[in-house]
Amino acid sequence: MPRKCTVCAHPERAEIDQAIVDGVPYRAIACRYGVGREAVRRHAKNHLPRTLVKAHEAAEVARADDLLARAREYEARAVELLKKAEEENDYGTALRGIREARACLELLARMRGELEHEMAINFLESKDWITIRELIADALKPYPEAREALRKALLEFVEENQG
Ligand SMILES: [Zn+2]
Repeated sequence: MPRKCTVCAHPERAEIDQAIVDGVPYRAIACRYGVGREAVRRHAKNHLPRTLVKAHEAAEVARADDLLARAREYEARAVELLKKAEEENDYGTALRGIREARACLELLARMRGELEHEMAINFLESKDWITIRELIADALKPYPEAREALRKALLEFVEENQG
């Protein structure tokens, strides 16, 4: 006769399921809801509705898309400013463009921590990024010191992300 699952029978089963999906350690769940850790593990493996796990994955993807959209926004602003700086030979505008590009890089660095390492790599190899890099270099041509500082910062970022 199969053993009854204490988690399935638990009045707070929905919350337990959610905690499992959220990645709360089994020990903490067991403690909080007064069930055995082994029961939580077995339940997670055999009874947790697949749909719940799927919904969680979908939420992760949505979050990734959101971050990527924000990175693209910074990126577009940086391109715009840098083009303008290049046309007008304007150091202040170039600096603002670089700030936008930096915000974009920082966001991507954060994404790298939260999401796949691959995403940062993909970005670094993307056409958009190569365009930004070239625009920055061109815009800073009259300012070799700033150019060198930026080149170093970028090199560091690339090394970190490709290591
Ligand atoms: Zn169960």
